[in-house]
Amino acid sequence: MDTVIDIKHLSKSFGNNEVLKDVNFHVNKGEVVCLIGSSGSGKSTLLRCVNLLETPNGGEIIYKGKDILQEMKNIEAYRTHLGMVFQQFNLFNNLNVLENCILGQIKVLKRSKEEAIKTATTYLQTVGMEAYVNARPNQLSGGQKQRVAIARALSMNPDVMLFDEPTSALDPEMVGEVLKVMRQLADEGNTMLIVTHEMQFAREVSDRIVFMDKGVIVEQGTPEQVLTAPQHERTKVFLQRTT
Ligand code: ADP
Ligand code: MG
Repeated sequence: MDTVIDIKHLSKSFGNNEVLKDVNFHVNKGEVVCLIGSSGSGKSTLLRCVNLLETPNGGEIIYKGKDILQEMKNIEAYRTHLGMVFQQFNLFNNLNVLENCILGQIKVLKRSKEEAIKTATTYLQTVGMEAYVNARPNQLSGGQKQRVAIARALSMNPDVMLFDEPTSALDPEMVGEVLKVMRQLADEGNTMLIVTHEMQFAREVSDRIVFMDKGVIVEQGTPEQVLTAPQHERTKVFLQRTT
């Protein structure tokens, strides 16, 4: 199988706080991997290390066969292959929806404005936000903002989509519309790495679930293996608390 990202022996500390300890896992092309675990277990840090918003202290991040930590000069190029969706949307509030979705395409991918608009329009349709091209983020609901953020990430045609708790900042009634879009992306074969607390969603969309606790991967496997028949005590305790 085609491995897109292969993480080996990854470690990360903030001062004396060892947040990631010898983390090993991979994401294959077309695979949907959900990362679960208690608050503070290191999930966001792991995602931020994967896209190098944080610099790991050790280990390897193999992307298409190359350790990108050994090729730091290519970070910008590497990052363009990853689509990131944050809890807090991170849209540009001074730009409208369409402008948000074309900026990176023009600046980073050097696409023509015409091509960028075409691509953005396609993905705004995917997330059901094509009627809002002229709206500013502050005119949108949280669910709508997050769908635009997803369209913006998709517009860069990334190899992997990374999601860090994309529904955690939403009012409960808006969670469904965002999960629906993500489910559709999963069904379409997109490669996705998702940090989430939505266990039912994780069970339904994941090819693999990775459970993290205190900076280590405790276990990983199919939703059935991890959620229904967990092998480790720490996983069982976590699942009892969340379900
Ligand atoms: P999770 O996403 O699983 O809730 P995080 O990766 O956000 O966990 O945090 C894991 C640990 O790393 C926490 O103890 C947190 O305080 C610490 N941490 C995260 N980011 C930073 C940072 N920029 N500086 C210092 N400590 C950090
Ligand atoms: Mg987090």
